[in-house]
Amino acid sequence: MTLSINCKDAGDPVCTHTMYGETEEELLKNAKEHGIKEHGYTEETWKDEMSHNLEHFRSLIKNS
Ligand SMILES: [Zn+2]
Repeated sequence: MTLSINCKDAGDPVCTHTMYGETEEELLKNAKEHGIKEHGYTEETWKDEMSHNLEHFRSLIKNS
């Protein structure tokens, strides 16, 4: 089983990058790395974002 989430689904108007993970933990880690690298997040702002939007983010995860 592979979990994935797409940036566009998460609300980004231009980025169509898809992140993958075998587990939710791995997926969130990959999403964080992508967020920091491509979307200008820092450890702190990502943590803040997740503290507000984790449930929404989780609802966007696809199983395949
Ligand atoms: Zn992105």
